[in-house]
Amino acid sequence: MSDADIVIIGAGMAGLTCGCLLAQKGLKVVMIEKNQKVGGCCTSFQKEGFLFDLSVQSLGECQEGGRVWRVLKQLNLLDQVRFISLEPAREYYFPDQRVIQSSRMETHIENLSSLFPAEQKGIKEVYAALEKIFEEFSSLRSSLNWFKPSSFLSRYPYLSRYKDKTYGELLDEFISNPFLKTLLSIRSSYALLPPEEISAVGMAGIEMSYFSHGVSCVDGKVEQLPMKMGEVLVRMGGEILTGHEAQQILMDEKRAIGVRLKNGQEMTGKVVVSNVDAHHTFSDLIGENHIPAGFRSKLKGMRPSLSYFILYLGIEGDVGELPISNNEIFFGDSLEKEFDFLYENRISEKAPFYLLVPSNVNPSHAPAGKSTLCLSCKVSYGFSPSWDRKTKDELSKRLIQKASAFIPNLERRILVKIETTPKTIEQWTGNRWGAAYGWAQIPRQSGIYRLPRTAPIPNLYLTGHWTSPGGGIAGVVASGELTAEAVLNRLEKGE
Ligand SMILES: Cc1cc2nc3c(=O)[nH]c(=O)nc-3n(C[C@H](O)[C@H](O)[C@H](O)COP(=O)(O)OP(=O)(O)OC[C@H]3O[C@@H](n4cnc5c(N)ncnc54)[C@H](O)[C@@H]3O)c2cc1C
Repeated sequence: MSDADIVIIGAGMAGLTCGCLLAQKGLKVVMIEKNQKVGGCCTSFQKEGFLFDLSVQSLGECQEGGRVWRVLKQLNLLDQVRFISLEPAREYYFPDQRVIQSSRMETHIENLSSLFPAEQKGIKEVYAALEKIFEEFSSLRSSLNWFKPSSFLSRYPYLSRYKDKTYGELLDEFISNPFLKTLLSIRSSYALLPPEEISAVGMAGIEMSYFSHGVSCVDGKVEQLPMKMGEVLVRMGGEILTGHEAQQILMDEKRAIGVRLKNGQEMTGKVVVSNVDAHHTFSDLIGENHIPAGFRSKLKGMRPSLSYFILYLGIEGDVGELPISNNEIFFGDSLEKEFDFLYENRISEKAPFYLLVPSNVNPSHAPAGKSTLCLSCKVSYGFSPSWDRKTKDELSKRLIQKASAFIPNLERRILVKIETTPKTIEQWTGNRWGAAYGWAQIPRQSGIYRLPRTAPIPNLYLTGHWTSPGGGIAGVVASGELTAEAVLNRLEKGE
């Protein structure tokens, strides 16, 4: 007798999506979450009257018709989680120029075409190609484990052409101006990769998830999204064991049959779904001796995404100086150089940084007459061996100095200051090295090559940003839906 039909390890956005959709089908779902609250990366915290979202400040697919919107509709949550549309989505500050990023593709193409009239055709071709890749990949997703090379080329011509290519290679086909290439590539940095490394398929996923159904942030705090999903799961008969860490995936000969918790309690289920870091799943929870040798060496060769250092500030006064809440500041034209430093565990003096003013769109984040800021830069976990106070202070000082060029007297206005490092993210979510998006979206780990949702262990499924399609809220919600679909298919077939 099983305790549950489905045992899910981890209540991040993917685990919750998967759990809610399975519970809605009448299955008994038990979720195990090591933190005291659900959400994983998608969480918020408060200090001295200021509210901060740990991450997730720009969401794709949340407006009418988008994937996140559709899941919330299916769960009757549309009136409980509201979104604020961010248009323009961002402003980019270069040394001699400011460029607005619209959240609408047509407007964005028009803006770029007016800056580079000779390249208008190429700009349109880039987005047409990304749209096609995304369309083909989305139609393939549910049958991702199916692969017949003979019919693949004719049914998925764009995917066939770009599945092994980087976005940089795609751009080279259509664009010649180097600065325009930079402008067309800025969102590759959301995946913490330069255009020369991010896969064309991964980039199509990012661009289209933001262009198809707007760029948004949650009205209020971002953790409302997972919290409301958790409440629905419980109303549908599911259970969430918060404050409980999974220690082992139980095996019956070769199949997964349940989970042992750190406190010794055991939960059995017909299916086990893991929403946690893939290394943690296979090396710690299952044990390397249970994994086929080929899969083990494949995992060892895989590369996680980079991470962030983030400085959250509560400050005195308004920030009227910045007309748009989400800003990115650049000190040069090339996106690649920054990564040369990052791969050597350094940060370039000229590294771009993000300057967000969340309270400008969400006034409830700060008391009246005060504001919140979120300053951040990309970092590797290895930048500091211990991420001690000295390292945090040095990076904070650097960011404050740079941001002071945009916000006068910033240092003197600071009331509250909190930092998060890759280590904080690792400790909170269990994502190794604080990887912000699971595996890096490089060609060999992206699209049809991403770690599948089925594991080489019968009864075990994966969901979340370590599996297909990849990181970001829209991506992991897609992953949660697709894992639920795969589990249902199997249970319906009685396998
Ligand atoms: C700093 C930062 C900024 C980001 N900004 C954005 C953004 O603006 N827009 C966007 O779309 N995406 C953004 N992302 C990415 C996005 O947040 C993630 O891709 C997504 O939330 C991952 O969801 P998940 O469900 O796969 O896993 P996670 O959120 O990592 O959840 C995994 C859960 O498993 C739990 N867990 C781990 N081990 C165990 C165990 N042994 N037992 C029980 N529970 C366990 C963890 O506590 C956690 O709750 C950002 C990420 C970071 C880190």
